[in-house]
Amino acid sequence: MTQDLEGRRALVTGGASGIGLACAEEFARRGAHVTIADRNADAAHAAAERVGGSAWVVDLSDTAAQEGLSLEVDILVNNAGIQKVAPIHEYDPETFRLIHRLMVESPFLLVRAALPHMYARGWGRVINISSAHGLRASPFKVAYVSAKHALEGLSKVVALEGGPHGVTSNCINPGYVRTPLVEQQIADQARIHGIPEGEVVEKIMLTESAVKRLVAPEEVASLAGWLATDAAGMMTGASLAMDGGWTAR
Ligand code: NAD
Repeated sequence: MTQDLEGRRALVTGGASGIGLACAEEFARRGAHVTIADRNADAAHAAAERVGGSAWVVDLSDTAAQEGLSLEVDILVNNAGIQKVAPIHEYDPETFRLIHRLMVESPFLLVRAALPHMYARGWGRVINISSAHGLRASPFKVAYVSAKHALEGLSKVVALEGGPHGVTSNCINPGYVRTPLVEQQIADQARIHGIPEGEVVEKIMLTESAVKRLVAPEEVASLAGWLATDAAGMMTGASLAMDGGWTAR
């Protein structure tokens, strides 16, 4: 593996698990110094040790605390996310607000904190881990779908403002990835659809996938790693589906 991110500083939110951890490992392999921002202290420290980086233990849904931040990073990965599956008429408003604070407001505040440093260096990469649900809706996920659609808009505005300063901003839109977040969803979907948990992946999650398997976290991470390189300087404002064809249908 070439050390094409040597000398770069990366911040990965939610980097202690799943897709974020795979991204942190990929950036470290390519030579970047990685900071893991996560609310799970033990997992954040373990991940930081694994990638030879640093841990920032933080609850990113506490957006007021992020208003005065200044972040000296070259690569910002907005990845931390949660999911709650329920019909709209039963959807708890506080959970809706929590999901939007974590998955829209916090990315805005972190980008806002990082851009002055990226502009000063004339180089930066903002990588937003959106979702296939940022491009296409599904029932019972009103907070998640609306937050991911908002993240798509945020990413494009960052691309437009950052372009003249050497800063790119893109979304990656994975289909279902086997992580703790999806394990929780399997239980919720089984309850809502009245089917056994063991049938959810095949009967709910993969019915419209062309490839008929879940995405691996490493597949998302390898695209994130490439987006962070100099070679990807012309790719900005894009939304890159990695969903086995789910959004193509
Ligand atoms: P995960 O549950 O494995 O990891 C999420 C991480 O975020 C955890 O380490 C958790 O501690 C951290 N986190 C959660 N709330 C936080 C908070 N308030 N403050 C700080 N850290 C917090 O999840 P994942 O599946 O790897 O998901 C990562 C991202 O990928 C999310 O944005 C998710 O929407 C997106 N995504 C996931 C899938 C999938 O199928 N798993 C598909 C498309 C998109």
